[in-house]
Amino acid sequence: MPVTPSAEVDRFMAGLVRRNPGEPEFHQAVREVAHSIMPFLLANPRYLRARILVRLTEPDRIITFRVVWQDDAGRVHANRAWRVQFSNAIGPYKGGLRFHPSVTQSVLKFLGFEQVFKNSLTGLPMGGAKGGSNFDPRGKSEGEVMRFCQAMMRELHRHIGEDTDVPAGDIGVGTREIGFLFGQYMRLANRFTGVLTGKGLSFGGSHVRTEATGYGAVYFLQNLLETRGLELQGMTATVSGSGNVALYAIEKLGQLGAKVVTASDSSGFVHDPDGISGERLKWLKDLKEVRRGRISEYAEHFKCQYFPGKRPWNVPCEIAMPCATQNELDVDDAASLLGNGVIAVAEGANMPSTFRAVDAFIGQKILFGPGKATNAGGVAVSGLEQSQNALRISWTRQEVDHRLKGIMREIHEKCCIDGTDADGFVNYVRGANIAGFRKVADALLAYGIV
Ligand code: NDP
Repeated sequence: MPVTPSAEVDRFMAGLVRRNPGEPEFHQAVREVAHSIMPFLLANPRYLRARILVRLTEPDRIITFRVVWQDDAGRVHANRAWRVQFSNAIGPYKGGLRFHPSVTQSVLKFLGFEQVFKNSLTGLPMGGAKGGSNFDPRGKSEGEVMRFCQAMMRELHRHIGEDTDVPAGDIGVGTREIGFLFGQYMRLANRFTGVLTGKGLSFGGSHVRTEATGYGAVYFLQNLLETRGLELQGMTATVSGSGNVALYAIEKLGQLGAKVVTASDSSGFVHDPDGISGERLKWLKDLKEVRRGRISEYAEHFKCQYFPGKRPWNVPCEIAMPCATQNELDVDDAASLLGNGVIAVAEGANMPSTFRAVDAFIGQKILFGPGKATNAGGVAVSGLEQSQNALRISWTRQEVDHRLKGIMREIHEKCCIDGTDADGFVNYVRGANIAGFRKVADALLAYGIV
């Protein structure tokens, strides 16, 4: 019987699920990649003979450890933390740390796996990793967050280094937490070195790192729109989330003339038909970055509608940017967006759209930018932070922003090379997966059987 790509994906996935039980997010991320690269693998049997896909779905190692810390009342807590070092085939491990109660090994394996392809796409020498803890930063005092970070670094410092593994932030880990982690690393290792990225500007951070994921996602979106002769000016956009990625996506969308009408957090979303920009965006940033409040307070303050427990995808828009978390946009949400005439969906978060939602977008041939391409600007500027640290220099804001734009344009071009169909439609999911895979796979082939 001839081997078909879909039968081969099913066979491969059956083995993967058997080897990794109870890890649905990891299965989902691998299935998406396997589905889009299998025809390419069948056409290039050297990768199959070397069993590259099997090797790339098995992390190099996973470090699991206990983090014990004390809250302000003196109570003792024990959390679990992980570092998933997925692949260092093309550079030192690189990927963020996530602090959220939903963190499991499955979530970190999905994120680490995605990171391998994303980092490859940036063109920079970075392997893939992810880490984090089920620690819940919500409602914790600054002292508690600091003690947790210090306790975590007491173990993590043994496994990281500027040429080994360079963590950064992710959900629940921003500049404040990176500062606490870096301070503790320095104390333990007695070395001032670029072992973390996302650092503050006064201690080795890069200009534009804070903004990079959101800005980069909008630059990628601009590239998507350009393929159809469109621009952001005058378009209405819905954004989910109100964290690091969402806030700077909202800012850049506004700077380029789009009107952003929604923002959300894990409790619900706000709909502001007047647009979240200017003083309103400034207020929102202060709410989320400084006061660490809830999005419902925005609705109270600016007298607009708040929808508790809901997601923003029913609000009519031309542009949708999911920037909160995985699986926050399902096939029904995709149907609402398509029904309302959405032109482009650009994923700021990692795997925010479910497999069926992505299928619906691609089926309707709208512009769809998958997270691993669209949100790669964050890790790209982390890579630039590593370069600046290694060279002991600091580039200007303009210089870094210029490089970020260039990297996002190159990622877009790579996606087009491998993702363009015979009728000219660009399947960016396939394009990103094949381009990301090829570079890592070729490195593995060059190393022989290791
Ligand atoms: P933040 O912690 O700064 O913000 C996360 C936002 O998402 C918050 O508004 C949060 O709401 C919301 N959120 C978190 N969990 C859920 C949930 N289960 N349901 C609904 N909303 C939720 O994280 P980032 O902005 O850094 O990260 C957002 C996404 O972008 C993640 O998928 C991350 O992996 C991805 N990403 C981040 C990069 C970066 O540089 N930071 C780089 C590339 C990708 P609440 O405050 O209520 O928890």
